[in-house]
Amino acid sequence: MTETDSGNPTCSFCGIEKSPQTPLIAGNNGHICEQCVKLAYQVVSSWGRRGTRIEPELKTPQAIKDFLDDYIIGQNEAKKTLSVAVYNHYLRLKFQDQGDTRLPLAGTDALAVELEKSNIIMAGPSGTGKTLLVKTLARIIGVPFVIGDATTLTQAGYVGEDVDTLLKRLLEAAEGDVQAAQWGIVYIDEIDKIASRGSGGASTRDVSGEGVQQALLKMVEGTEVRISKSGRREGGEEVTLNTQNILFIVGGAFPGLTGLISKRLAPPKTGIGFSAPIETGEEITNEQLLAALQPDDLLQFGLIPEFIGRFPIITFLQDLDVDSLKRILQEPKNALTKQYKQLFAFQNVELDFTGDALTCIAEEAVKRGTGARGLRGMMESLLLSTMFDLPSQTDIRRCVVEAADNNDTGLRLQVREEFSDGRIREEALPVPPLPDNGDNNQGVATETSVAG
Ligand code: ADP
Repeated sequence: MTETDSGNPTCSFCGIEKSPQTPLIAGNNGHICEQCVKLAYQVVSSWGRRGTRIEPELKTPQAIKDFLDDYIIGQNEAKKTLSVAVYNHYLRLKFQDQGDTRLPLAGTDALAVELEKSNIIMAGPSGTGKTLLVKTLARIIGVPFVIGDATTLTQAGYVGEDVDTLLKRLLEAAEGDVQAAQWGIVYIDEIDKIASRGSGGASTRDVSGEGVQQALLKMVEGTEVRISKSGRREGGEEVTLNTQNILFIVGGAFPGLTGLISKRLAPPKTGIGFSAPIETGEEITNEQLLAALQPDDLLQFGLIPEFIGRFPIITFLQDLDVDSLKRILQEPKNALTKQYKQLFAFQNVELDFTGDALTCIAEEAVKRGTGARGLRGMMESLLLSTMFDLPSQTDIRRCVVEAADNNDTGLRLQVREEFSDGRIREEALPVPPLPDNGDNNQGVATETSVAG
């Protein structure tokens, strides 16, 4: 054990003497001071980064897409784009980790190529899986990942979350490891909402929205931001985070986007005579329109050109039709029907859904325009009274959700409960409330229960 002449113990690493200002932690054969604990933590963190986060995780785009396929129905274009972008991000990361992103061009040694990141814009209606895609990605990639919402972002100095907060959260996700955070991924949702609608004159401009874009632009281009590492307001250690290698993904619904593209592709018939456009009579599908999406189309939503210019990859998500919604109810690893089946199974009850019932639910979701987002709420209210009764009725063996023919409610669904003594009871299921005015049609159907 190390001690000074005065008998005070000293730090076994740096030799500093114990005092009221410098407390020491005692071990079996020595002591350590706060500064050396911090230093040791930094060293250990950097081992973790090299050992576990980067090296073993180079998944091919196919492997990334296969994983996404387990959770997300359809949206192949977006899945492929994201898989490739994330894989390339890894490649850059791997070589940066070995020293430099400047690699000799294959076959030549005179030139070196600097690999730049390719940030991504995802356009697609609400509830089609944008957030789910990036969240699922976050589960397989070994780099820190944060999800932010553009509508909550404000310019620095205004009330709300400024863009630096995203970086602070990224650093937290990286458990304080600055190096890892500098290679992280940031997803910003609802990006279309910070822009001003329409490309009108200065009077229609949303100045603070543009200010947020400018702040984001700086961050996306690469800047050094000083952020405090801990949650403590004062005395927290400040670190500098370079955003140059952070991959940015932004998403938005961009309502009316297909209309804009179709206008661009087929300008309105204003000409007469020889110059009038020829009517082909062929309908362009939404998919074809979205495939023709160009950065300039997004300018119309008030995104500034410099900002769009920093997102060279644009991908899109399709509207979900009845078939896709039916698949979403059944196929993903954590599909809603699987989740409810599991809940019922915990209570020794088998739960089944007929194909017709699932079609009804999917059709209702399409009618409500909520995409897949509305499905959970609908299922929850459909099954609420069954789930309420179940624990107190231990003799129910099976519940089947099926389409009911003789029912005047909008959804025409009923649950058939089969008891262990052979009895069967059918009960009409309530129409789930609409998302925004929850009390308008609840309760009508609950009164039409049929005892069997
Ligand atoms: P967005 O971000 O596009 O508005 P989300 O990703 O938040 O939509 O989707 C909401 C929910 O709907 C998801 O949590 C998921 O349960 C479901 N969902 C949406 N799209 C899909 C899809 N393509 N495949 C499977 N589930 C989906």
